[in-house]
Amino acid sequence: MTFQEIKDQEQAYIMHTYGRVDAALVKGRNARAWDAEGKEYIDFTSGIGVNSLGYSDPQWTAAVAAQAGEIQHLCNYYYSPQNTALAEELCKAAGMAQAFFCNSGAEANECAIKIARKYGEKRGADKIVTLNNSFHGRTLTTLAATGQEAFHKDFLPLTEGFLYAEGGDLEAVAALLDGSVCAVLIETVQGEGGVVPMDEGFVQGFSRLCRERDVLFMVDEVQTGVGRTGHFYSYQGYGVQPDVATSAKGLAGGLPIGVCLVKERLRNILKPGQQGSTFGGNPVVCAGAREVVRRVNDPAFLGAVEEKGAYFREKLLAMPQVDFVRGRGLMLGIKLKSGDAHDVLTKCAEAGLLVLTAKELVRFLPPLTITQEEMDEGLEKFAKVLREVD
Ligand SMILES: *Cc1c(COP(=O)(O)O)cnc(C)c1O
Repeated sequence: MTFQEIKDQEQAYIMHTYGRVDAALVKGRNARAWDAEGKEYIDFTSGIGVNSLGYSDPQWTAAVAAQAGEIQHLCNYYYSPQNTALAEELCKAAGMAQAFFCNSGAEANECAIKIARKYGEKRGADKIVTLNNSFHGRTLTTLAATGQEAFHKDFLPLTEGFLYAEGGDLEAVAALLDGSVCAVLIETVQGEGGVVPMDEGFVQGFSRLCRERDVLFMVDEVQTGVGRTGHFYSYQGYGVQPDVATSAKGLAGGLPIGVCLVKERLRNILKPGQQGSTFGGNPVVCAGAREVVRRVNDPAFLGAVEEKGAYFREKLLAMPQVDFVRGRGLMLGIKLKSGDAHDVLTKCAEAGLLVLTAKELVRFLPPLTITQEEMDEGLEKFAKVLREVD
């Protein structure tokens, strides 16, 4: 099929919920991809932080294919050793006690919200505090948790019971945490909100405040998790341990997964029949995730993520069109002195470089395994595009 045929088919048969770029990707290897017409791209997106080990990593592919050839799915009424092993490996990496598996970030947050409601139920505490400018998903409840009105518009009424606080303002947060609040849910680095990192004092103070007021401290690690920030979970880099953490995007290296992790004191808070998912914890997906966890949860791998992040920053800051760079590890937001981020994204694609935007910033979420050569090639293309739009 030619690109035009693919595009026509999309126009005719797919709901237009995405502003797409003119490229149909059909093949990839690590941080390199090729489109339907054979054009090569350097990839700084990893599919919004999903392909942690890059495109079609050989060991990941082998693990997934081998499991598909053994048993591809079973009903959650039976046991699966891929599923139980992933739960143990993940809990140990995260400092958590138990896992619930589902298929996406939004579902993982739905599970966290159900746990929070159940935790507060006995004392009538049903409110959940989230931050302005946050992003927690597209279901009606996780939209309500998302502190950005632009996403709510047209879909009212949403699930009730969410309060919004300003990130960084501990006093404002403290004023909200009365007896009606059962939990807070935050991103340590707001991804969709424009790659906005919370400062350490705020996150640590927030965590302490929650403990003092018997409010669950829940961290949405959907974008920041699984090595993205140079720590297995970003909260480990902030020196806090949440009661509940949610993870998805990069966890299975490109297969749909979500997980809600809880600390020891919440062991078995949800009873049989209170939560479930047909596909959740599917053995093929878990086999892919185990390969990701095995590779990422290694100090040398995580150290390399941090070093690559520092290298990106150094090179980006040397580009005269760049105003500032923010984020952690390989989660980078780039503010340009002038020009429109989306226009830059389009021009990058034309130049053979895949990037993302987040609000008015250009965003890079490259595969964690990106090589020196791939970084340099992509950065060179980026510098060239910036010179042209300047
Ligand atoms: C992407 C994202 C979600 C939603 O995940 P889906 O898998 O698209 O449902 C939730 N929270 C954060 C922080 C995200 O970045």
